[in-house]
Amino acid sequence: MTSPITSRIAVFPGSFDPFTIGHFDIIERAVPLFDQIIIAIGINSQKKYLYSLEQRLDFINNCFSQVDSVTTATYTGLTINFCQSVNANFLLRGIRTVGDFEYEKTIAQLNKSLAPQIESIFMMCAPQYSHISSTIVREIIKNEGDLKPFLPDGVLKGMEGMQE
Ligand code: ADP
Repeated sequence: MTSPITSRIAVFPGSFDPFTIGHFDIIERAVPLFDQIIIAIGINSQKKYLYSLEQRLDFINNCFSQVDSVTTATYTGLTINFCQSVNANFLLRGIRTVGDFEYEKTIAQLNKSLAPQIESIFMMCAPQYSHISSTIVREIIKNEGDLKPFLPDGVLKGMEGMQE
């Protein structure tokens, strides 16, 4: 057996374009499980985003300003390299569908062979949020639909602030 883990640090990586109520629910449920959760936005220069990096960070920070154990960060390159740079021992992901499972399984096994000390942890999506994705939310934004059911208050406030 390896020595016991003293501090449980988890990275929750994603693009969060934007951070949805599904993401929020995962974090809310994960807070009691970890000493620290770093919500980390991966920067992919090839990808086009609806919201800038700063906006996406602001939205997430608005949601967790009262929660000391939740912080945000950005990174480029491999997620496991970022995990190692912040001494994280857990990589947290959410699973909505069989499709998510298949994808996550491949990535987790790949990560395990690259960084065996980092454990991937999966949380099953709450049933009421399984249809919610950032892609769907971006469609609703483009078509000016009601965003309230899909976004946490902190993100809605952040978006309202942008329009002022
Ligand atoms: P990525 O582009 O890396 O999939 P996302 O920002 O789309 O990043 O999602 C980050 C994580 O949140 C992923 O593990 C994803 O499966 C999970 N996730 C996304 N939407 C939901 C949801 N509605 N409920 C639970 N988990 C979710």
